[in-house]
Amino acid sequence: MGRRTRMRFVRPPPSNFYFPRDIDNSLKDKSVILTIAEFEAMRLKHYRNLPQGEGEHGQKTCSETMGVSQPTFSRILDKAHQKVTQALVEGKNILISGGNIEVKEIFNGYGCLNCGAEWKDELASKNRKISCPNCKSEKTYHLIKEPL
Ligand SMILES: [Zn+2]
Repeated sequence: MGRRTRMRFVRPPPSNFYFPRDIDNSLKDKSVILTIAEFEAMRLKHYRNLPQGEGEHGQKTCSETMGVSQPTFSRILDKAHQKVTQALVEGKNILISGGNIEVKEIFNGYGCLNCGAEWKDELASKNRKISCPNCKSEKTYHLIKEPL
């Protein structure tokens, strides 16, 4: 099987979601199946309220956060809306499944208490102190951020 487009992003759906590994046919008939990308598109746009077009003040847009182009993001979001609408109208379950996903790496690096700079450093750890490349301050801290 060939590799399809990979999307960089995504935190896994919340664990209380119905997220079956295998969806058998009887369940399929009663359900609408959202891909993780479609779920993520709705979450970014309607739950986190990220801008879809230009981000203000350097705020990341939905498409940037997902690592896809704007037209692609719109297409994914449209598809998600269609499926959720169908589920509401036809009284079906909503399942989330599959998709070709790569979970975005955790941000590992440092932050500076003096100037607020944040930078990545793959070797960063609590025990490895480093001075700020921006302001040369020694008041830096180990910074880890979860995806999104
Ligand atoms: Zn600094």
